[in-house]
Amino acid sequence: MTTQPIGRTHEVTNQAPPLVGHDVAEDAALLEGLRREGADWYAEDLHRLGRLAGSAQAQRWAEEANRQEPELRTHDRYGNRIDEVDFHPSYHALMDVAVREGLAGAPWAQHKPGTHVARAAGFMVWASVEQGHGCPISMTYAVVPALRAAPALAEQYEPLLTSRVYDPGLRAPLGKRGLLAGMGMTEKQGGSDVRANTTVAAAQPDGSWRLRGHKWFTSAPMNDLFLVLAQAPGGLSCFLVPRVLPDGQRNTFLIQRLKDKLGNRSNASSEPEFDDTVAWLVGAEGQGVRTIIEMVTMTRLDCILGSASGTRAALNQAAHHVRYRAAFGSRLIDKPLMRNVIADLALESEAATALALRAAGAADRALRGDDAERALLRLATAVGKYWVCKRQPAAVAEALECLGGNGYDEASGMPRLYREAPLNGIWEGSGNVNALDVLRALARGPESLAAFRAEIAAAQGGDARLDAAWRRLESDLVLTDDAELRARRLVERMALVLQGSLLVRYAPSAVADAFCGSRLAGDHGLAFGTLPGGVDFAGVLERVPALCWETTASPFGGGDGADAAG
Ligand SMILES: Cc1cc2nc3c(=O)[nH]c(=O)nc-3n(C[C@H](O)[C@H](O)[C@H](O)COP(=O)(O)OP(=O)(O)OC[C@H]3O[C@@H](n4cnc5c(N)ncnc54)[C@H](O)[C@@H]3O)c2cc1C
Repeated sequence: MTTQPIGRTHEVTNQAPPLVGHDVAEDAALLEGLRREGADWYAEDLHRLGRLAGSAQAQRWAEEANRQEPELRTHDRYGNRIDEVDFHPSYHALMDVAVREGLAGAPWAQHKPGTHVARAAGFMVWASVEQGHGCPISMTYAVVPALRAAPALAEQYEPLLTSRVYDPGLRAPLGKRGLLAGMGMTEKQGGSDVRANTTVAAAQPDGSWRLRGHKWFTSAPMNDLFLVLAQAPGGLSCFLVPRVLPDGQRNTFLIQRLKDKLGNRSNASSEPEFDDTVAWLVGAEGQGVRTIIEMVTMTRLDCILGSASGTRAALNQAAHHVRYRAAFGSRLIDKPLMRNVIADLALESEAATALALRAAGAADRALRGDDAERALLRLATAVGKYWVCKRQPAAVAEALECLGGNGYDEASGMPRLYREAPLNGIWEGSGNVNALDVLRALARGPESLAAFRAEIAAAQGGDARLDAAWRRLESDLVLTDDAELRARRLVERMALVLQGSLLVRYAPSAVADAFCGSRLAGDHGLAFGTLPGGVDFAGVLERVPALCWETTASPFGGGDGADAAG
């Protein structure tokens, strides 16, 4: 007599295999952007990082770093303040890869053209695994140009901020093999309006300063160095605050608590208080915003890269699922309506990727002295930060829905992507603040508008719908009394025209055509999956990486993995 093993009531069928064992960098839009923006030389390294990002090991690190959250230890067993945060070893593993692969400060020590583009592509690939640890990595990348406003400090610390060694732990900074940096701007009474900061700074006879006050959101408090805004007698100023002083003594950095955040849970965000905290002035007294804006420009670029990466990761999870999952007799990717949803998400993602890498290319060339690119960067980061970050939550929610109930389950990884999605829209200039910043750039810098105009003109004649959208937009770029009221609408249109121009110039015609028809000519609904019938769906879908990736895992009774784009 044969018996069924206990608990074996059924066979598991029609579940997609895990998306693992692939090369995340095997991605046409990403690789073309890398080449276009001048960093083709990085492709081999990007693939190596892409294979690590697609590995089961990296996915386990991401899951563990979020499941076991950072823990604050304010005091030691004797009651002394220690203000340390413990992280899961998997967080350290993620950080180690990011620093070693040059995603933190390393590009500033490399002088090869395309360095910042290479780093941008690497950041996008690695952030697709886990976004929380990207915060300290971004801040360390971004701090370098701001710190250069204090040449003596930069001379000491820059070699360690650009190091590829991850050396965690609170020790005298100059004795470490690599340093990480953070920023403290936001206070309880205001984050966008930093002029309202109440932390005060008092000059000392030895040339240092002492800070007293609080910050309401200071992420990665175990980093070594922070740029902090405080009110000096001459006005709001930027200061360097080390966690440990040069002589090895702990500086006063009282972490009152960690934030209990919606997402981004692998990353600690803290509320520190400063009391007689030792600091050094960076830049001129009273020029705090002008100094720290050098850091903010680069973290805003990273917000675009991070959101483009999060959108692409969600698209790939959705595409992978529908490639294998069947319903009502055939695979989901063969259902016309699901093809519409995935293709629409793919357009959004491709446009975000193109804009992100174009901004990174502008940054790279601007840093090498190209004034036109610097002018473009000013507008492209503000416009891109507004739009790419704003689209991420909607796109990720739609991608999650493609997995059905499985997408709502933590094990799918989609809830983590979803919780992360609104963050970049808030940090470093929330939506409105960014939109208003675009107005400021338009009003104050005619060279930025000229550079933007030249960028769009390069695509002129490529698509009549793009040309018409630009004509309508151009006349609205003359700022009127109600410009503030209209700012979001204006910036959205600028973003779409910029994305459209990039796709018309560089993407396959199927992608550019569908983008212009839906986003610029208005043949589209309010939700994703509302592309019109004339779209070349196969042409758009064949660009979706996860519809092409070979994974190492075998399907659990899923589809045959045949080409799903055709
Ligand atoms: C996960 C996370 C990590 C963070 N890490 C850091 C960090 O490391 N360091 C740091 O300094 N900060 C950090 N922040 C704080 C973040 O930068 C601020 O929350 C952000 O700048 C907004 O400031 P606020 O919260 O004070 O909001 P507010 O400034 O009060 O803004 C609230 C809303 O009003 C809008 N608004 C503001 N001004 C205007 C206006 N003139 N017209 C119309 N609308 C307006 C904003 O767009 C926003 O939607 C972090 C935030 C998060 C969520």
